[in-house]
Amino acid sequence: MNHFELIDGELHAEQVALGAIAREVGTPVYVYSRATFERHARVFREAFAALPKVHIAFAVKSNPNLAVLRLLAKQGYGADVVSEGEMNRALAAGMPAADIVFSGVGKTRDELTAAVRAGIGQFNLESEEEGEELAAIAASLGKTATCALRVNPDVDARTHAKISTGKAENKFGVAYDRAAGIYARLSALPGLAMRGLAVHIGSQISDLEPSRQAFLKMGALMNALRVEGYAVTHMDLGGGLGVPYKPGEQLPTPAEYGAMVAEVTQGWNATIMFEPGRVISGNAGVLVTEVIRVKQGTSAPWVVVDAAMNDLARPAMYDAWHDFAAVRPTGETMVANVVGPICESSDTFAKNREIDVVKAGDLAVFGTAGAYGATMANTYNSRALVPEVMVDGDKWALVANRIEPATILAAEQVPDWLV
Ligand SMILES: *Cc1c(COP(=O)(O)O)cnc(C)c1O
Repeated sequence: MNHFELIDGELHAEQVALGAIAREVGTPVYVYSRATFERHARVFREAFAALPKVHIAFAVKSNPNLAVLRLLAKQGYGADVVSEGEMNRALAAGMPAADIVFSGVGKTRDELTAAVRAGIGQFNLESEEEGEELAAIAASLGKTATCALRVNPDVDARTHAKISTGKAENKFGVAYDRAAGIYARLSALPGLAMRGLAVHIGSQISDLEPSRQAFLKMGALMNALRVEGYAVTHMDLGGGLGVPYKPGEQLPTPAEYGAMVAEVTQGWNATIMFEPGRVISGNAGVLVTEVIRVKQGTSAPWVVVDAAMNDLARPAMYDAWHDFAAVRPTGETMVANVVGPICESSDTFAKNREIDVVKAGDLAVFGTAGAYGATMANTYNSRALVPEVMVDGDKWALVANRIEPATILAAEQVPDWLV
C-alpha cells in the first residue's frame, strides 16, 4: 500500500499535488512519501513480532537520501552499508554506529580503518583475506571489530541474474563448505570478535522457497559451529524481498516472509538480523516526468519524456518494468513506446504498452521508483543529477537539489599543456 493517489483527478503524494511540485522544482524529480516509508518500516518490523530478538538494518544502497535515512533512524532502523560514503550518510542521519552493518565484497583498507574508528556494529566479512586484514587493522588501533561471516549458500534465488548473489558462481561470501573452517580461523585472531553468520541471496525475490533453503543451510552451519564451541549469537538473513511493480502482481508479503523466518529460526536462540532495501523504499517513491513530445512511429507512437536512463537506470539495466501513469489521466488509453531523450536505444521505459493518453507538456510518473532510482542516477549525456522531494501530509521539501550540468562542468579542467 502506498500514498500516491488521485485526488480530484490529479495524482497526489499524500495531500500534495504532483503538479505543484513539478511547477516549483521542475522535472524530472523523484517524490517520496514519508507516510509510505513509515508504513513499510512498521509493517516489515511487525512481520517479525514472533521473533525474540531482531535487528533491522535498512539497505542504504536502495535509497541513500539523507532525509530517508533520518526518517528510518526515527523508526529505530539501523543501516546496511556497502561503502564509507554510505556509512557516513547513516551516521550523518543519526543512526548509532552500533546499529550499522558494513557489507560488501571490496571494502578497502581505508574503509575498514574508518569503520573500525567509527565503532561500526558489525562487519559482514566476505572472505578470509578480508578478515585477516580487518583483524590487523583493529589490533593496531587497539580495538576489536565485531564480525559476521557472509556465506554463499549456493542457492538460486530465481530472480534476475544481475541481482542474484547466492549462487556459487557469484562473487559474494565464502563457499558454504569452507565456511566453518574460516570461521574457526578468524575466531582465533586478535582484533576480531566473530559473532555470527550472514547470507543474502539476491534482490526482488518473488518466491520464498530459495530463501527458506538458504536459511535452513545457515541454521545447520550455526549448529555445527556451536558444537565446535564457537559463539554464534547473530544470524543476518539479508534483504531481498521483492515488491510488486505491476498492478495485480502477487508477491510474498512481509507477513508471509516473517512466518517463514519464524518457522525456520525456531530454537535458534540468536538475534535475527535483516537488511531490507526495496521492500521499504520501492513503493515509497515515484519519478515525475514531463512529456516533451509525442512522435509518430512506424507502429506505436513514441512518447518522449524528459526523464531518461540516467535518472532511472533499472529498465535499461535489468529490463525492469515501471508503471507509467498520467498525473491527470483522462481515462483514455493508447498503445505507445515510452522513451527518454538519451542517444541509446536502451533508453526505453516501455515498449508497445497500453498507457494513459498523454500529449506534449503533460506530467506523468514512473511508479515504484523509490528503490534503486535516484541512487543509480548519473549525468550521462551531460544531463543534470535528478533532484528528490519528500512529502509529509500537506507539506513537502526538497531533500536533494538538482545538480546542474554547469556544476559538474566546473569540476573539470583542461591541463595547462592543452591550453
Ligand atoms: C542489496 C543488498 C541488500 C538489499 O536488497 P533489497 O533487495 O533491496 O532488499 C541487503 N543486503 C545486502 C548485502 C545487499 O547487497
